[in-house]
Amino acid sequence: MNFAIILAAGRGQRFGGLKQFLMVNKKPLIYYSIVKFNRSPFVDKIILVTLQEKINYLKMLASKYQLNKTQAVIAGGKERQDSVYNALKLLPDNGYVAIHDAVRPLVSLSLIKKGFLLVKKHRACIPVLPIYDTVKEVKNHRVIKTLERSQLYYVQTPQFFEIALLKKAYAHAYKQNIYQTDDAGIVEFLGTPVFTFEGEKTNIKITEKNDLIIIKKLCQKELQ
Ligand code: C5P
Repeated sequence: MNFAIILAAGRGQRFGGLKQFLMVNKKPLIYYSIVKFNRSPFVDKIILVTLQEKINYLKMLASKYQLNKTQAVIAGGKERQDSVYNALKLLPDNGYVAIHDAVRPLVSLSLIKKGFLLVKKHRACIPVLPIYDTVKEVKNHRVIKTLERSQLYYVQTPQFFEIALLKKAYAHAYKQNIYQTDDAGIVEFLGTPVFTFEGEKTNIKITEKNDLIIIKKLCQKELQ
Protein backbone atom coordinates (compact mmCIF):
# COMPACT_ATOMS: atom_id res chain seq x y z
CA MET A 1 0.00 0.00 0.00
CA ASN A 2 1.20 3.50 -0.82
CA PHE A 3 0.30 6.36 1.51
CA ALA A 4 0.64 10.12 1.29
CA ILE A 5 0.97 12.36 4.32
CA ILE A 6 0.17 15.98 3.51
CA LEU A 7 1.39 18.48 6.10
CA ALA A 8 -0.56 21.63 6.85
CA ALA A 9 -0.12 22.17 10.57
CA GLY A 10 2.33 25.08 10.40
CA ARG A 11 1.43 28.54 11.67
CA GLY A 12 3.45 30.31 8.96
CA GLN A 13 5.43 32.54 11.31
CA ARG A 14 7.76 33.82 8.56
CA PHE A 15 4.92 34.31 6.11
CA GLY A 16 2.66 35.93 8.68
CA GLY A 17 -0.42 33.69 8.45
CA LEU A 18 -1.77 30.30 7.46
CA LYS A 19 -0.54 30.22 3.89
CA GLN A 20 -1.79 26.65 3.36
CA PHE A 21 -5.39 27.92 3.55
CA LEU A 22 -5.04 31.06 1.44
CA MET A 23 -7.64 31.14 -1.29
CA VAL A 24 -6.08 30.72 -4.73
CA ASN A 25 -8.55 30.84 -7.58
CA LYS A 26 -11.44 30.12 -5.18
CA LYS A 27 -9.82 27.09 -3.59
CA PRO A 28 -7.60 26.87 -0.49
CA LEU A 29 -3.95 26.31 -1.38
CA ILE A 30 -3.89 22.87 0.26
CA TYR A 31 -6.59 21.64 -2.15
CA TYR A 32 -4.07 21.62 -5.02
CA SER A 33 -1.74 19.16 -3.26
CA ILE A 34 -4.52 16.89 -2.04
CA VAL A 35 -6.15 16.65 -5.45
CA LYS A 36 -2.86 15.57 -7.04
CA PHE A 37 -2.27 12.74 -4.60
CA ASN A 38 -5.94 11.77 -4.80
CA ARG A 39 -5.68 11.56 -8.58
CA SER A 40 -2.42 9.59 -8.66
CA PRO A 41 -2.90 5.87 -9.42
CA PHE A 42 0.19 5.29 -7.24
CA VAL A 43 -1.52 6.53 -4.06
CA ASP A 44 -3.97 4.41 -2.06
CA LYS A 45 -4.63 6.50 1.06
CA ILE A 46 -4.00 10.06 2.19
CA ILE A 47 -3.53 11.39 5.72
CA LEU A 48 -3.97 15.12 6.23
CA VAL A 49 -2.23 16.75 9.16
CA THR A 50 -3.42 20.17 10.19
CA LEU A 51 -4.12 22.53 13.08
CA GLN A 52 -6.70 21.31 15.60
CA GLU A 53 -9.09 24.13 14.65
CA LYS A 54 -8.88 23.27 10.95
CA ILE A 55 -9.70 19.56 11.18
CA ASN A 56 -13.41 19.97 10.49
CA TYR A 57 -12.73 22.41 7.67
CA LEU A 58 -10.45 19.91 5.91
CA LYS A 59 -12.94 17.07 6.44
CA MET A 60 -15.57 19.25 4.80
CA LEU A 61 -13.20 20.09 1.93
CA ALA A 62 -12.39 16.41 1.36
CA SER A 63 -16.05 15.54 1.16
CA LYS A 64 -17.06 18.56 -0.95
CA TYR A 65 -14.43 17.85 -3.61
CA GLN A 66 -14.63 14.03 -3.34
CA LEU A 67 -11.04 13.64 -2.26
CA ASN A 68 -12.03 10.12 -1.40
CA LYS A 69 -8.60 8.66 -0.69
CA THR A 70 -8.53 10.78 2.48
CA GLN A 71 -8.28 8.24 5.30
CA ALA A 72 -7.87 10.61 8.24
CA VAL A 73 -7.54 14.26 9.12
CA ILE A 74 -5.49 14.66 12.29
CA ALA A 75 -3.87 17.35 14.43
CA GLY A 76 -0.19 18.15 13.95
CA GLY A 77 2.43 18.88 16.58
CA LYS A 78 4.71 21.71 17.64
CA GLU A 79 7.37 21.20 14.95
CA ARG A 80 7.02 19.80 11.43
CA GLN A 81 8.67 16.62 12.63
CA ASP A 82 6.07 16.17 15.38
CA SER A 83 3.31 16.51 12.79
CA VAL A 84 4.84 13.75 10.65
CA TYR A 85 5.28 11.55 13.71
CA ASN A 86 1.56 11.85 14.58
CA ALA A 87 0.64 10.66 11.09
CA LEU A 88 3.22 7.85 11.04
CA LYS A 89 1.49 6.29 14.05
CA LEU A 90 -1.55 5.64 11.85
CA LEU A 91 0.39 3.76 9.17
CA PRO A 92 0.91 -0.02 8.99
CA ASP A 93 4.48 -1.36 9.17
CA ASN A 94 4.66 -2.32 5.52
CA GLY A 95 4.28 -0.30 2.34
CA TYR A 96 5.56 3.10 1.26
CA VAL A 97 4.81 6.71 2.09
CA ALA A 98 5.23 10.08 0.39
CA ILE A 99 5.48 13.04 2.75
CA HIS A 100 4.51 16.35 1.23
CA ASP A 101 4.31 19.98 2.38
CA ALA A 102 0.93 21.51 1.54
CA VAL A 103 2.78 24.73 0.69
CA ARG A 104 4.02 23.13 -2.56
CA PRO A 105 0.74 23.13 -4.48
CA LEU A 106 2.26 22.41 -7.90
CA VAL A 107 3.54 18.90 -7.22
CA SER A 108 3.02 16.88 -10.40
CA LEU A 109 1.61 13.43 -11.07
CA SER A 110 4.88 12.48 -12.76
CA LEU A 111 6.94 13.42 -9.70
CA ILE A 112 4.66 11.30 -7.49
CA LYS A 113 4.99 8.38 -9.91
CA LYS A 114 8.78 8.72 -10.15
CA GLY A 115 9.13 8.73 -6.36
CA PHE A 116 6.94 5.70 -5.75
CA LEU A 117 8.77 3.71 -8.45
CA LEU A 118 12.23 4.62 -7.13
CA VAL A 119 11.50 4.09 -3.43
CA LYS A 120 10.94 0.36 -3.98
CA LYS A 121 14.58 0.00 -4.92
CA HIS A 122 16.18 2.70 -2.78
CA ARG A 123 14.03 2.68 0.42
CA ALA A 124 14.42 6.45 0.84
CA CYS A 125 14.44 8.91 -2.05
CA ILE A 126 14.01 12.66 -2.43
CA PRO A 127 13.63 15.12 -5.32
CA VAL A 128 16.42 17.69 -5.58
CA LEU A 129 17.56 20.46 -7.91
CA PRO A 130 21.09 21.77 -8.47
CA ILE A 131 22.02 25.20 -7.14
CA TYR A 132 23.30 27.68 -9.72
CA ASP A 133 24.09 30.56 -7.36
CA THR A 134 27.29 30.62 -5.36
CA VAL A 135 26.55 29.80 -1.72
CA LYS A 136 28.62 31.09 1.18
CA GLU A 137 28.61 30.45 4.90
CA VAL A 138 28.22 33.83 6.62
CA LYS A 139 28.34 34.86 10.28
CA ASN A 140 27.85 38.41 11.60
CA HIS A 141 28.12 39.87 8.07
CA ARG A 142 31.45 38.14 7.48
CA VAL A 143 32.02 35.33 5.01
CA ILE A 144 33.30 32.24 6.77
CA LYS A 145 33.76 30.22 3.59
CA THR A 146 32.50 29.56 0.07
CA LEU A 147 30.79 26.20 -0.25
CA GLU A 148 31.49 23.76 -3.09
CA ARG A 149 28.51 24.49 -5.31
CA SER A 150 28.70 21.31 -7.37
CA GLN A 151 27.85 19.32 -4.23
CA LEU A 152 24.87 21.45 -3.13
CA TYR A 153 21.22 20.86 -4.00
CA TYR A 154 17.84 22.31 -3.16
CA VAL A 155 15.62 19.68 -1.59
CA GLN A 156 11.89 19.42 -2.30
CA THR A 157 8.93 17.41 -1.14
CA PRO A 158 7.33 14.93 -1.61
CA GLN A 159 9.95 12.69 -0.04
CA PHE A 160 9.45 8.93 -0.35
CA PHE A 161 10.21 6.21 2.18
CA GLU A 162 9.70 2.60 3.04
CA ILE A 163 7.34 2.95 6.02
CA ALA A 164 9.24 0.49 8.25
CA LEU A 165 12.49 2.40 7.67
CA LEU A 166 10.92 5.79 8.40
CA LYS A 167 9.28 4.52 11.60
CA LYS A 168 12.62 3.15 12.78
CA ALA A 169 14.38 6.42 11.91
CA TYR A 170 11.78 8.50 13.76
CA ALA A 171 11.96 6.31 16.87
CA HIS A 172 15.75 6.68 16.81
CA ALA A 173 15.58 10.47 16.33
CA TYR A 174 13.20 10.96 19.27
CA LYS A 175 15.36 8.75 21.46
CA GLN A 176 18.37 10.94 20.62
CA ASN A 177 16.35 14.19 20.81
CA ILE A 178 17.16 15.06 17.21
CA TYR A 179 15.10 17.59 15.25
CA GLN A 180 15.41 18.02 11.48
CA THR A 181 13.69 20.25 8.93
CA ASP A 182 12.95 17.37 6.56
CA ASP A 183 12.28 13.65 6.79
CA ALA A 184 15.35 12.60 4.84
CA GLY A 185 17.40 14.24 7.60
CA ILE A 186 15.89 11.80 10.10
CA VAL A 187 16.81 8.83 7.91
CA GLU A 188 20.32 10.23 7.34
CA PHE A 189 20.75 10.43 11.11
CA LEU A 190 19.98 6.72 11.30
CA GLY A 191 22.85 6.18 8.83
CA THR A 192 20.71 4.80 5.99
CA PRO A 193 21.55 6.18 2.51
CA VAL A 194 19.03 8.53 0.92
CA PHE A 195 18.82 8.45 -2.89
CA THR A 196 18.24 11.67 -4.83
CA PHE A 197 16.44 12.16 -8.14
CA GLU A 198 15.64 15.21 -10.22
CA GLY A 199 12.90 17.42 -8.81
CA GLU A 200 10.86 19.95 -10.75
CA LYS A 201 11.43 23.71 -11.04
CA THR A 202 7.68 24.30 -10.95
CA ASN A 203 7.38 22.52 -7.60
CA ILE A 204 7.75 25.83 -5.77
CA LYS A 205 7.41 26.25 -2.02
CA ILE A 206 5.33 29.21 -0.92
CA THR A 207 7.47 31.12 1.52
CA GLU A 208 6.78 34.80 0.92
CA LYS A 209 3.82 36.85 -0.23
CA ASN A 210 5.51 37.42 -3.62
CA ASP A 211 5.44 33.69 -4.37
CA LEU A 212 1.66 33.90 -4.46
CA ILE A 213 1.57 35.92 -7.67
CA ILE A 214 3.24 33.19 -9.68
CA ILE A 215 1.37 30.45 -7.84
CA LYS A 216 -1.99 32.00 -8.69
CA LYS A 217 -1.12 31.93 -12.38
CA LEU A 218 0.17 28.38 -12.31
CA CYS A 219 -2.68 27.02 -10.18
CA GLN A 220 -5.14 28.48 -12.65
CA LYS A 221 -3.58 26.26 -15.30
CA GLU A 222 -3.88 23.26 -12.98
CA LEU A 223 -7.63 23.75 -12.77
CA GLN A 224 -8.05 23.69 -16.54
O1 C5P B 1 7.87 25.66 8.25
P1 C5P B 1 7.99 25.07 6.90
O2 C5P B 1 7.69 26.05 5.80
O3 C5P B 1 9.24 24.29 6.64
O4 C5P B 1 6.78 24.02 6.83
C1 C5P B 1 6.68 23.07 5.82
C2 C5P B 1 5.35 22.34 5.93
O5 C5P B 1 5.22 21.71 7.19
C3 C5P B 1 4.13 23.26 5.79
O6 C5P B 1 3.20 22.64 4.91
C4 C5P B 1 3.59 23.37 7.20
O7 C5P B 1 2.19 23.55 7.26
C5 C5P B 1 3.99 22.02 7.79
N1 C5P B 1 4.16 22.05 9.26
C6 C5P B 1 3.41 21.17 10.02
N2 C5P B 1 3.53 21.21 11.40
C7 C5P B 1 4.36 22.09 12.00
C8 C5P B 1 5.13 22.98 11.23
C9 C5P B 1 5.03 22.92 9.85
O8 C5P B 1 2.64 20.37 9.48
N3 C5P B 1 4.42 22.11 13.33
